[in-house]
Amino acid sequence: MGWDAGPGALPQGSYADLAGRWMTALREGARDHVVPLSAGETAVLLARLAAEFDKSADAADPQPERAAAVGAQLARSHFVGEEVLGRSIDVLGAHLAATGVAAPRVVATLGAFANGYLRAFRTWLLGEQESVRTAEIEARRAAEEQLRASEARMRGVFAQAGVGTGLSDMTGRIIEVNAAFADMLGYEPAEMCGMMVTDLAHPEDESGMWELYGALMSGECDSVRLEKAYPHRDGHAVWTNLNVSLIRDERGAPQYTLVLVEDISEQRALQESLRYRAHHDQLTGLANRSRFFDALADAFAAPASGIGLCYVDLDHFKTINDTHGHAVGDELLVAAAARLRECLTRPGQLVARMGGDEFVILVPDPDRPGEVAALAETVLAALAEPFEINGQRLRLGASVGVVEERSDRTDVDEFLQAADTSMYWAKSAGRGCYAVFDPARGRREHARAELSAAIPEALADGQFFLEYQPIVPLSGDRIDAVEALVRWRHPDLGVLSPAEFIDLAEDDGHIPALGAHVLAQACRAARRWYDLDPDGAPVISVNVSAVEVADPAWLARVEKTLAETGIPPQRLQLELTERAFMADDGGPVAALRTLAAAGVRIALDDFGTGYSNLAYLGQLPLQVVKLAGPFIQRIRDCDSAGATDLVVLETIVGLTHALGFTVTAECVETRFQAEQLRGLRCDTAQGWYFHRPLSEERVTGLLEEQRRIVIPVEGGRTTSS
Ligand code: C2E
Ligand code: MG
Ligand code: MG
Repeated sequence: MGWDAGPGALPQGSYADLAGRWMTALREGARDHVVPLSAGETAVLLARLAAEFDKSADAADPQPERAAAVGAQLARSHFVGEEVLGRSIDVLGAHLAATGVAAPRVVATLGAFANGYLRAFRTWLLGEQESVRTAEIEARRAAEEQLRASEARMRGVFAQAGVGTGLSDMTGRIIEVNAAFADMLGYEPAEMCGMMVTDLAHPEDESGMWELYGALMSGECDSVRLEKAYPHRDGHAVWTNLNVSLIRDERGAPQYTLVLVEDISEQRALQESLRYRAHHDQLTGLANRSRFFDALADAFAAPASGIGLCYVDLDHFKTINDTHGHAVGDELLVAAAARLRECLTRPGQLVARMGGDEFVILVPDPDRPGEVAALAETVLAALAEPFEINGQRLRLGASVGVVEERSDRTDVDEFLQAADTSMYWAKSAGRGCYAVFDPARGRREHARAELSAAIPEALADGQFFLEYQPIVPLSGDRIDAVEALVRWRHPDLGVLSPAEFIDLAEDDGHIPALGAHVLAQACRAARRWYDLDPDGAPVISVNVSAVEVADPAWLARVEKTLAETGIPPQRLQLELTERAFMADDGGPVAALRTLAAAGVRIALDDFGTGYSNLAYLGQLPLQVVKLAGPFIQRIRDCDSAGATDLVVLETIVGLTHALGFTVTAECVETRFQAEQLRGLRCDTAQGWYFHRPLSEERVTGLLEEQRRIVIPVEGGRTTSS
């Protein structure tokens, strides 16, 4: 809008005033058009036109065509706004009047000016309209050209796209498919056109899929994505990822459906094989652990239902692997798996390989009590039949744990633990059999396991302590020896007797530590008694487990304890049961010989409860035989003691003496027993009749009392009063 540039641009010279007023008038009018002139150019133009106009009204030579040319020039110079003509007539009319032009001339000149202006304005307008029309035609032509090009492009894309594409109308008729789609299903594109979409239904179509298609056709939704199988012309299924979109017309009404189909058969096959491998054991083809755990979780998810399980472990399978090689072992597993599969009695049961030579059979909701045990019997019978592998006849047995529970009374972990435990019961019952889980036995064993696990901490915590039971000569009553008996002051269970934990310690490997602790405690007590009275101190008799003696490090431990506590070896007696002498390699006997040679007394504990014959005893490094409690209990009183019992005892005592050993009787509870044993010339005895197991302090008290009543006699010998 250059002509709108302020008073500085007003024209100078003779028509400057007129041009200035004219310019001001135009500037104040409506700005509804654009003049492509600067303010300076406008000023020059208006000054020129003002001069022309003035001359056209010359009284001597009026030239209305000149005024018309001025009007035309103004219009051609793009002064075409609504108020341009009116305002110009005002200014120019006022000028003519002021310069004394007569009214008729004024009217004629302004009329010519207006005509010139309007003619030029009309021409300009027509020109403008024409150029708009031409531009419009040009634009339409370009758009049509573009549309044609894009349609051609689309058609090319449609036809050549790798992705299957198809178009169907709103009746479900296929109008067009591309080569990729037709090829996917074994057709030519033309063969598919005219088919109905429903002709391509497949038995594996998800329920609800066709409802979705219906919703799309009715315009309720605009696109659907799903996985669909298409029937191939030759019958096999072609799995696809399908995207169906609705195409609407310009009013929004559904017009076509467009499908994009991607063949995912290979992906699915791969997925299928991965899924299979994830749930099956590769060697046997049975379900694997993971599938079994899923099935078990399902069984537990059913409210308050029964669940049964056979936990099958092949017996001595390792031997087969070791003697015949792993290839044969693998074939045997495959054959065993096939037999297990045949044991299933109804659908829903699942046989799985848990790994190695372990299998399970899950019986969800057993029909009747005992069904699972019956299945275990079938399994045992099936596996007991010999196997033919590579021309060799191989025998295999199995141990089966059976558990049957209700899902609301247990959980998965407990259930599996029960199955595992009962399988081990079957193993320890001699293999080749099944064991049904018994919760009471399970609880007992669990308690034992917990107790056993607590032994190391209890040892560190000083919970084990000793009591000492005096052993007295039957010919007198001074204390000859004391037997150390271990007890466990358990923080929750109170004081436990050795019968409750020694076996555990032996089975679970805690006995070396416990034995070492007992030996050290006992020897320290013995040392204290020895320090109080070196002559009258009792021999300390310590029980040693067979498992301990079998430990090659045991001998050194005993020698070290003797050295550390400094008690004379003659003051130590070790009590062992027959089991300790039975080891094949003779190691324990050698260790005992070494100790016996050093002066340590070796006693055979609980004699008569095992199977040893007296002749064998003669070859052992023994000094003492302790007669087991049951022998002594039979002669409790004159009513119970039969003549045979006494003869047996007399014979044992006689033979033991003949072998050069002394005899100690255990569990002497009555005077009658003590008198009979004395009569049979048994050497020493222990039992409640004499003393109960006592604390170290009580024994010290007894020893002190004994010392006070001992009277020295001539020649240094002592005797009791
Ligand atoms: P044992 O060596 O035969 O010990 C004698 C058992 O008879 C002790 O039982 C003792 O308390 C009990 N007893 C003593 N006098 C009588 C009696 O007049 N009547 C009856 N009915 N019983 C009597 P305790 O202390 O329960 O020990 C049981 C077994 O535990 C011991 O039998 C021994 O084999 C083992 N034992 C005890 N302490 C140890 C130890 O420190 N290490 C090992 N390895 N075993 C031990
Ligand atoms: Mg003993
Ligand atoms: Mg005993």
